[in-house]
Amino acid sequence: MNYIKCANCSKFNLNREHCAVCGTSLMISETRREKQLQEREDALAKISENDKNGIYERMKNHSSPPVRWLAAGMKSIWLVFIGVTTLIALILSVFAG
Ligand SMILES: [Zn+2]
Repeated sequence: MNYIKCANCSKFNLNREHCAVCGTSLMISETRREKQLQEREDALAKISENDKNGIYERMKNHSSPPVRWLAAGMKSIWLVFIGVTTLIALILSVFAG
């Protein structure tokens, strides 16, 4: 049993998604859940943004040169790794095809 009071006309509705009198949506909890989901997505986006500007950016802008070189080295190693992986995938697909 779940009575929901209509926000528009104040009539009580039993287990309905919309008010029987005026048709106003009674799914207030649904709206709240959507808002929560949106907030969570925003939080996740913020976290990944922090990640992007995280350790690598900090190392790149570090005051001591060796740390900056290390950051640059890490980036080039990563790029080479991606390139080699793509090449291997390409070669494999050629041989498989
Ligand atoms: Zn109503």
